[in-house]
Amino acid sequence: MGATNYIINYKNLTEKQMRERVVTDTEQMQYEEGCSYSGTWASKAYGINIINKKFNSTQEAEDYILDNNDKWDCVDAVLVQYKAGTDKQNEKIKLEKSKTVEIKNSIMDFHKNWTKKLKERNSKTISCSSCKTRFNKEQIRNSFCPQCNHSLLSATDTKKVDKIKEKAEKQELKVKSLIAKRGGKTVKTWVVGGWCSC
Ligand SMILES: [Zn+2]
Repeated sequence: MGATNYIINYKNLTEKQMRERVVTDTEQMQYEEGCSYSGTWASKAYGINIINKKFNSTQEAEDYILDNNDKWDCVDAVLVQYKAGTDKQNEKIKLEKSKTVEIKNSIMDFHKNWTKKLKERNSKTISCSSCKTRFNKEQIRNSFCPQCNHSLLSATDTKKVDKIKEKAEKQELKVKSLIAKRGGKTVKTWVVGGWCSC
């Protein structure tokens, strides 16, 4: 017996409309999957728990619900309101988001390259600076010690990676602030659901 998450986003509904939709959707789930251990809202307690918290995105609201909802509770519902952004703003956000992905990919590339370069080194072994274990290079699959999980990177390489990570964080903040400054129409979305026993 486990639990699976079941979340639905309802756009532009009043609280009354949302409540009605939850009832009909739960009835539909019950009809299709049955009640107990169905992995749907039909397996949850009756009712809707409205959470009065502010979230900047439906994803944030969903994460909050899944962190706090229990499979024996009724569903949680959060109203998320945000500005949809103008076309120009959204284009800029998309561009800056793709830059974040590029920077993060370059961190992965750095680690991949490190492993590749290690194979090309003349020495047959490498030792961990933390637990002092010595390994045959063949035992090394990535840049972390198989024994203690400490990084096998040299101080210089660690600095390089930290610099890229810093850059990624700055880029993420940039995207966040662009999202916060969005104008345009207000989008209202009810994020509803929680964990369901299955
Ligand atoms: Zn180690």
